Amino acid sequence: MGDNNASCRICGQFVLQVPGWTSIVPSYWSMRATWRPEHEFFHGPLHFSCLTGWEHLEPFQKELKEILTGRGREITVEVGSAEHTVSQPGLYFSELLYANEECSIHRNTSYDEWLVLTAKGPWFTLRPKHLKALTEGRPVRDGGDGERIVLPADPAPGIETAALPDLLDSLGVRSRYPGVVELGEAVFEFWGYYPRKRILEYGVTADLPLPDSVVDFLAEYARRYEPTSFEEFDEFEDDDDM
Ligand SMILES: [Zn+2]
Repeated sequence: MGDNNASCRICGQFVLQVPGWTSIVPSYWSMRATWRPEHEFFHGPLHFSCLTGWEHLEPFQKELKEILTGRGREITVEVGSAEHTVSQPGLYFSELLYANEECSIHRNTSYDEWLVLTAKGPWFTLRPKHLKALTEGRPVRDGGDGERIVLPADPAPGIETAALPDLLDSLGVRSRYPGVVELGEAVFEFWGYYPRKRILEYGVTADLPLPDSVVDFLAEYARRYEPTSFEEFDEFEDDDDM
């Protein structure tokens, strides 16, 4: 199980953050666990593979969509017998660009960012450099930022040079990342390990498993969209590191 902050809120197992295979619902979203009357809010990390088969997927997605595509709202929650009003943020992915039975694509109305919500549960946020990759027929590669996490146990020897599948094996959670290696050519980078507190610093880069229809739509869309922010447009034009 490990550190509570690193346990999947659905299966309870350790979550190593891998772009495209996991995510985090931050507490400031104030996402209501509408399916669980005794616990008012849902936040924390999760494996997308757990979300896909989850019995509460539908109400989870409904809440997630309200927050991500909304402009913020006041919600009333009952704590004990008292009612409290909570301001829920909206993330402004408010412009629906495309939808079919497997996904929807939303554009942020303030920034050059796009949101992909999939019917199976996983969601992805894309930036101009990701769209650029699609126009060039490349996969959307994400990650590489430093993560810092408390491991549930000391890792197997050799973590400095471990490949991602071996690391996931040694943590006992490989089955929660189906297809991550085959699909994403995911790369694990060891940055540091502090045994006394079992803190691992690492980066993972992986190809996002976007549905084919998303790839097709965005590759075409990226050629003609007008940027909201010209700073981001520079990134679109100049970024060649992906
Ligand atoms: Zn899980």
